[in-house]
Amino acid sequence: MSASPSGRPSGLPPYDDGNIFARILRGEIPSKRVHEDEHALAFHDINPQAPVHVLVIPRGRYVSLADFSASASDAEIAGFWRVVGKVARDLGLEARGYRALTNMGPEGGQEVPHFHVHLFGGRRLGRMVP
Ligand code: C5P
Repeated sequence: MSASPSGRPSGLPPYDDGNIFARILRGEIPSKRVHEDEHALAFHDINPQAPVHVLVIPRGRYVSLADFSASASDAEIAGFWRVVGKVARDLGLEARGYRALTNMGPEGGQEVPHFHVHLFGGRRLGRMVP
């Protein structure tokens, strides 16, 4: 995937402002929020796959990790990942461990085209099998 002059990978689809997480960010769709600040929003997944299943999303318009890592500012990247760690800590997941995961693109199983990290915890998780 080559990069455009702005740093955004040119093979990525354009950002869709109608995607469900954009609507959650704008408050058009309710969510069970656990944290929000200038860089990121964290909320409980509507279809939890573990006792704790939270999604962390940046406020910025990034389709996926490929887009975020190439296009976001250092401040956005640092602010976002600090929130991922903080939310896990605040939810009491650190002592026993947890999983942070992102799906990227069609073969990665990404359904919502706004970059997000899943946080899973609260039980012993299965082995990662592709
Ligand atoms: O990584 P992927 O794109 O497949 O994950 C999308 C996640 O968004 C799913 O876990 C789904 O349950 C969640 N979701 C949600 N609230 C919605 C729509 C989807 O938490 N309104």
